[in-house]
Amino acid sequence: TAPQELDAAQAKTELTRLADLIGRYNSAYYTQDAPEVDDAVYDALRKRYDTILALYPDAEPAESAAKAVGAAPDTAFGKHRHLVPMLSLDNVFDQEEFESFITRAVRFLGLSDEDARKLVFVAEPKIDGLSISLTYENGRFVRGTTRGDSLEGEDVTANLLTLKDLPKTLRGSAPEIIEIRGEVFLSKEHFLALNASQEALGRKPFANPRNAAAGSLRQLDARVTARRPLSLFAYAMGFSSAPPSSSHWDYLEQLKAWGFPVNPLSRKLEAASSAEAFFEEVARERAGLSYDIDGVVYKIDNLVLQERLGFAGRAPRWAVAWKFPAEQAITTLKAIEIQV
Ligand code: NAD
Repeated sequence: TAPQELDAAQAKTELTRLADLIGRYNSAYYTQDAPEVDDAVYDALRKRYDTILALYPDAEPAESAAKAVGAAPDTAFGKHRHLVPMLSLDNVFDQEEFESFITRAVRFLGLSDEDARKLVFVAEPKIDGLSISLTYENGRFVRGTTRGDSLEGEDVTANLLTLKDLPKTLRGSAPEIIEIRGEVFLSKEHFLALNASQEALGRKPFANPRNAAAGSLRQLDARVTARRPLSLFAYAMGFSSAPPSSSHWDYLEQLKAWGFPVNPLSRKLEAASSAEAFFEEVARERAGLSYDIDGVVYKIDNLVLQERLGFAGRAPRWAVAWKFPAEQAITTLKAIEIQV
């Protein structure tokens, strides 16, 4: 049934059904690292959920998995509470949706047209891996965690120590306590090699490099992680006991100075009007990259404006992910399931 044809009671039942499915798929994807359905199917479910919710805002179940970020930390790992939550990102799929993101931010900030035109952005490839938080105290790496449910993550410090890209100490001076966020990923080449060896050993292959990276980092035995050549890009800040910069672009420069790998395709954009051209440029380079990306992330550069914009629900108001169109078509069977 199309969302517009549901009455209030049907909308409530349907939202509960969709939330349960989303919860089940979240658990398979985030906890087991073994998705039950394609991302396109999952994204279509979420879209249906959001469309119904927009029509019937009061029909949302109290405990809805659709409101959650990620999944609760697996109890097999030690739990760690992030000093600043690790959220998700809102998605856009075309220029019109991107412009709505800008309009919302400009309106929230109350900017004049002239000031809106002067907004600077940083655009970065959206790495298809799993996000991690790295805590440094007095310049020394002390703890690394997964995102978990955004508030609490899994302690994977020993596993992260096996990554050659991870600085164990920061070069130069650093705030006393700082959380650095980034993405751990597996190159396309290593993903294919890992799956070939999984199959040779009679084990289930990973669905994609993202799940392979997550399955490789979330190991109880760090020696297994050590055999998987995981890479890292740093791209964001969590807690910091002293502000390391006043703009996101300068923060990326600081990350490089401290010794972190920062994605070389990241670009400072002097105006939102250059976003589409950059998206197309990255889309053209995508196939030639040694790692998977699934879009471009745009972030308002000024950290004071980021602070003022803050967060809404599961995502910041100052950033958005412009996603590439899904590569895999929804299978007929799954399409039927989500149209019920
Ligand atoms: P997301 O992947 O859509 O976006 C947020 C994440 O982007 C951040 O947490 C961060 O890890 C990452 N990121 C990569 N590069 C970044 C950069 N340069 N700057 C900032 N962040 C960057 O987030 P999500 O909420 O984890 O998951 C939604 C995605 O996961 C959807 O694409 C969905 O299809 C997929 N998913 C699939 C299933 C399934 O069953 N197939 C289940 C759950 C989620």
